[in-house]
Amino acid sequence: MPELPDLLYVLSRLRDRLPGREVTAERVREPVVLRYTVRGNLSLLLGRVLADVFRKSHFLVFRFDGLDLAVNPMLAGRFRLAEPGDPDEKSLGFALGFGEVELRYLDDKKMGKAYLITSDDWKAIPGLQTGGVDILSPEFTRERFVSLLKHRRDQVRVFLLDKKALDSLGNAYADEVLFEARVHPKTFCRSLSHDDGVRLHDAIVKVMSEAVAEVEGRAEPIEVKVRDFLKVRRKETCPRCGGKIRTAGVRGMDAWFCPRCQPATRPGFVDWTRAGKQTDN
Ligand SMILES: [Zn+2]
Repeated sequence: MPELPDLLYVLSRLRDRLPGREVTAERVREPVVLRYTVRGNLSLLLGRVLADVFRKSHFLVFRFDGLDLAVNPMLAGRFRLAEPGDPDEKSLGFALGFGEVELRYLDDKKMGKAYLITSDDWKAIPGLQTGGVDILSPEFTRERFVSLLKHRRDQVRVFLLDKKALDSLGNAYADEVLFEARVHPKTFCRSLSHDDGVRLHDAIVKVMSEAVAEVEGRAEPIEVKVRDFLKVRRKETCPRCGGKIRTAGVRGMDAWFCPRCQPATRPGFVDWTRAGKQTDN
């Protein structure tokens, strides 16, 4: 899934290329990814000029006169800038032509959704949570984070992934943040001290700002997911202590962590049978 650093990078690239251009063509290869809350279909965009592209929570929004196309790439969605006539990818969901450049939405799992809505009709989009505090904004302070944490009764990794609380962390960066803060993924929020909370906040800021800079600096094509610099997610050996990285199931998601650097604070945390299992993301 594109996480925040990926989404910000894609956004900056699309902003460089597309606004001010008119939609000259549209193709839908995989109708399942498209949802219309207006009468009509993607051809409504033909002849309209793209005014802006922006991020709203985990959606990228393409703004046209009177209409917004809001795309949530979910687990596997990617964007690609192609030239018209480039061969279609097997995973092509839909494409919008903007003269000599074509924006393609690719999705191997077909889980992403693109909503064509009347501008600003956000309530028409299920799952568009806007309550979370933007973790890269000045509003994301230690005090705000610790106060959010204090009211939670769930496990810390579940909290980190809750988009109504934080905008936003996905599976990969949740693991990186917990590793940085040396917190076991199954720790209950209520058992974390004030100092733990501060450390976790600072880890989010550090890990995410470094990741944003890293992804930006690589300057890969936007369809490439840059993840090789991560420290624990999908890794075998802990870069800090040299121990073996393990996985554990947390509410149906696999967490990757170092049991030595992120020790359990209660017994029965680690499901060793799942160690090393490969999963998405
Ligand atoms: Zn370690």
